[in-house]
Amino acid sequence: MSYKIWLDDHAIKHKKIMDKLSYLSDDEVIEYFRFENMVKKELDFCPLYKDNQKCHEINDLNCYLCACPNFRVGKEKSYCDIKSINGSQIAGKDGYIHQDCSRCSVPHKELYIKGKFKRDWVDLMKDTIGI
Ligand code: SF4
Repeated sequence: MSYKIWLDDHAIKHKKIMDKLSYLSDDEVIEYFRFENMVKKELDFCPLYKDNQKCHEINDLNCYLCACPNFRVGKEKSYCDIKSINGSQIAGKDGYIHQDCSRCSVPHKELYIKGKFKRDWVDLMKDTIGI
């Protein structure tokens, strides 16, 4: 699945939840997106939820900013726009350079999410596809 297709699909799931939460404050919405709550109430949001599994093994994982708004997709490579020290890059067999975010928890921390927060998730992610 291409990143764009995944993003479009995820945007639909995100909006469905946000429409349901329209009566909550911004802080309450962010709290709702905590892994421990999402895994119980929003099973379809992430394929890992069915196994009660986290994408990053951190205690305070929040799923609101999945995917990361700092991720960029270019023609020859994907990369991190803020050059996170915990991100890295992997060369694919096809020559494409892939950004590896598996060791980075930046977008999963609530303080970071509060600084970036918008109810319109598509607007938050608008810079990720740079083609
Ligand atoms: S390395 Fe971290 S901040 Fe950068 S794109 Fe990946 S998850 Fe986002």
